[in-house]
Amino acid sequence: MRSWTIARFRGVRIQLHITLLLVLPYLAYIIAARFKELLAQAEISGVRIDELAFHGLKQGPMIWGILLATSLFASVLLHELAHVWIALRQKARVRSILLMMLGGISDIEPGDESPTHEASLSLIGPAMSLFLAALGWLLWRQTQGASLSFFGHWFFQSNLVLALFNLLPAFPLDGGRALRASLSTRMGRVRATRASVRVSHALAWALGALGLLGFNLFLVLIAFFIYASAQAEWSMLMSRGLLEGLRAGDVATLVPPVEESQTLAQAIAQMLHSRVTALPVVHSGGGFSIITLQQVRSVPFHFRDTTLVRDLVRRFPGGESSAAEFLEWDTPLHTALSDLAAAPGATLPVSANGKIIGIIRYSDLTEVLQLRSLEKPAA
Ligand SMILES: [Zn+2]
Repeated sequence: MRSWTIARFRGVRIQLHITLLLVLPYLAYIIAARFKELLAQAEISGVRIDELAFHGLKQGPMIWGILLATSLFASVLLHELAHVWIALRQKARVRSILLMMLGGISDIEPGDESPTHEASLSLIGPAMSLFLAALGWLLWRQTQGASLSFFGHWFFQSNLVLALFNLLPAFPLDGGRALRASLSTRMGRVRATRASVRVSHALAWALGALGLLGFNLFLVLIAFFIYASAQAEWSMLMSRGLLEGLRAGDVATLVPPVEESQTLAQAIAQMLHSRVTALPVVHSGGGFSIITLQQVRSVPFHFRDTTLVRDLVRRFPGGESSAAEFLEWDTPLHTALSDLAAAPGATLPVSANGKIIGIIRYSDLTEVLQLRSLEKPAA
């Protein structure tokens, strides 16, 4: 589904997912609709609500709803930025932060998977949320203004919930990763992951049952999310294990690249000659990308002699990967899995000594996985 890049932080794309655009107004609306309860709660906690800004205004609850809902997503963003900060310090690669309906997801390729690194990487997020909760508490308890105090009360509560929720010992939450890290030191990564996946599944069942009994659809949704993510974590680990020892060059299809100044007709001739459905493209200003059969097909037959590869590659979203998205031939395959899955057309150019020598497709990896799983049954 669609997402937009709204900012960059030290090279990391910060993206908004389309679901957030739906959920943010919805959340603001829910807060506005339950504003009386929120006020009553705050009043019990010592906030003087008769001095609150917008108090008595007809649009008051909605203004507060928008403010508080936005602050919740700012809290989620700060939580994710804390992960990214530690990840960059650990020399891990961070592709993006995606803010979506159920919170934030940081796309991080760990530099190494040592338990201490994984533990600090996962626990920094909840630590940040606890720190924000403490700030909220100070605003609530230590300021004179009713509005600041009311906001602080909300900020304290929402960040505390964020911290506690993320500490649940289940994948893909921070608590699940911290659990695996602590088990890894004793039983090794594979067994630790399996144990953590079991705990995640148990927790998902429990949350799902709670949600069904209490008619809480949101809880049921979270339960599904946890169950599926734990499953994905397990198959990712298995896949990585099966790909161990192989390099990108071992499964790449060797095919000479086309220049971006060549015509589509020439690219088609090259595809036919090499019997491939995607070709690496070398850009004149440096950088590489991929042109696929599907892209070529979108251009009417009689224009293919005059249309240049450049026109097509730049016209497609994601085809603009002139940011040198390629794999070096000796890249270990198990680290290339998520790169390939995320690449446009699930295909990346492969290079050796600065020269493009061919392409590698996600399907090449799945083929290897199927073949290797014949000889190495899952642990
Ligand atoms: Zn987190």
